[in-house]
Parts: sequence; structure tokens; C-alpha cells
Amino acid sequence: MAYTYDPQNIFARILRGEIPNNTVLETEHTLAFHDIGPQAPIHVLVIPKGAYVNFDHFATGASAEEIADFTRAAAEVCRIVGATPGEGGGGYRTISNAGEAGVQEVPHYHLHILGGRVLGRMLQRID
Ligand code: AMP
Repeated sequence: MAYTYDPQNIFARILRGEIPNNTVLETEHTLAFHDIGPQAPIHVLVIPKGAYVNFDHFATGASAEEIADFTRAAAEVCRIVGATPGEGGGGYRTISNAGEAGVQEVPHYHLHILGGRVLGRMLQRID
């Protein structure tokens, strides 16, 4: 599968330091920052530093080190923002949108971490 990565997308510009961000956590391969338009009291985006378009690109193209770093960083973000169940947090939801059906706006792989309130059902019927 061939993926086309747009190096001018907004998250690529954040990674190059061209646009500021409100960082929650930075590791060797991963950056996490607050979403600029939060849809819940907790809304953090976790992105790999590598040039991956979406989840399946990352899952098939990234190294084991990148994937482990990303996954562990996302869990650490849940702890940092106080959302981890069993550690006094109220829980969270992770979402990753891809492509047209997923209504992905920014074409750099990102994981949304949402929490801080009861989020309701996973999907709403729109038909
Ligand atoms: P998606 O629809 O899954 O591609 O989500 C893109 C997300 O990026 C949205 O929730 C936006 O609010 C968020 N976003 C766009 N620009 C920025 C930015 N400069 N800093 C932080 N979050 C952003």
C-alpha cells in the first residue's frame, strides 16, 4: 500500500516547531499536546514524530520501537491528565479517525484521548 504524506500538514509543522503547541508529553518518537478545540474537559492528541498518515500506515510502516514508544506514551498521557481508571481517574476514550469515512481532518496519524466527563455512546446514528 502506497501512502502519500503531506509535509505541510499542521501536525508536521508543529513537529518542526513552526507552530506552537501545548505539550503534555514528549518522548523520543512521540509528541502529545492539548487539542486546540477540545470536545471534552480532557482532549489530548498523541502523534508519532515519524511521517505517517493514519493508523494503518503507522501500524504497518513504523518500527517496533516507534510503536512501543507511541503506545506507552499514550498510556502515560492518560495517567498525566488523571484519566486512568484504577488510579483515581474517571476513564477515557481513544479515537483515531482515518480517511473520508472517518472524517480525518489532519493527515498525520493521531490518537485522540478524551475524558473528564461521561462521553456518551460511541457513535450517534445520523441516518
Ligand atoms: P481529526 O478530525 O481526527 O483529523 O482531528 C484533528 C484535530 O486536530 C481536531 O480535533 C482539531 O481541533 C485539532 N487541531 C487542529 N489544529 C490544531 C493545532 N494547531 N493544535 C492542536 N490541535 C489542533
